[in-house]
Amino acid sequence: MLMAALAAAGAACNRARSDEPARVETTAAETVPAALPPSAAVTAAMDPPEAAPPATRYAALTPDACATELTARAVPYERLGPTRGVAAPVRLTGPLSGVAFRTLLPEKTRARSPYEIFDCRLLLALADFAKLLAAQHIVEVIHYSAYRPPPAGWAEGPFGIRHEGGLAIDVGYFRSADGTALNVERDFAARPLERPCTPGPQPRNATAESVALRKIVCDGFAAKLFHLTLTPAYDPTHRDHFHFEVTPGKTAFVAR
Ligand SMILES: [Zn+2]
Repeated sequence: MLMAALAAAGAACNRARSDEPARVETTAAETVPAALPPSAAVTAAMDPPEAAPPATRYAALTPDACATELTARAVPYERLGPTRGVAAPVRLTGPLSGVAFRTLLPEKTRARSPYEIFDCRLLLALADFAKLLAAQHIVEVIHYSAYRPPPAGWAEGPFGIRHEGGLAIDVGYFRSADGTALNVERDFAARPLERPCTPGPQPRNATAESVALRKIVCDGFAAKLFHLTLTPAYDPTHRDHFHFEVTPGKTAFVAR
């Protein structure tokens, strides 16, 4: 059962996904342009706000400052050359706090796959997230993609946001140290009109898996590691994964 599910996830790794959350409500002040010119990222990095939430602080880092912080934390990574749409492209070369992040692509393919490229700033958030996951005895995070190359015709120069900027990741499965798996599509069991991480009625038939998946989402939300978290409660496109995103220029935190 688990292997069949994981195989399905592997097949999905290559499929194009268009889950950009057009329906997430934003105020005018929160609206993020589709792409940020290089100068915008640099300007934002000049004055990182003191005591800002982690995701907001990370989003304001320059590529060099971000790499310095990854190195200081002993995160296993390598910096990559120019990658279309990605301001600070990096690749993970080992687990984060004992938690492996990977697609289900074959090992030799993974090392070259665009889907396993991250913007450095997302990786800082995932390094924090991994500590929370380790506390839940998670040892492996299986995702469909972080980076997804922009479409043909993407102008040279501007950096993307979300997947096109390597700033978002779509996670389908979490595996525990004892081998059990949390499958977002199978186990989340979204309730009608559910608003994740806000007070509301408890599910009548909550399973241990559905509770564990909500704890994963809401621990990350409470720690302000991602500006945007989308779950199967949001829309049918997200029925099989969590979308976690660091968004430059954004100060609000949303979980849907
Ligand atoms: Zn996504």
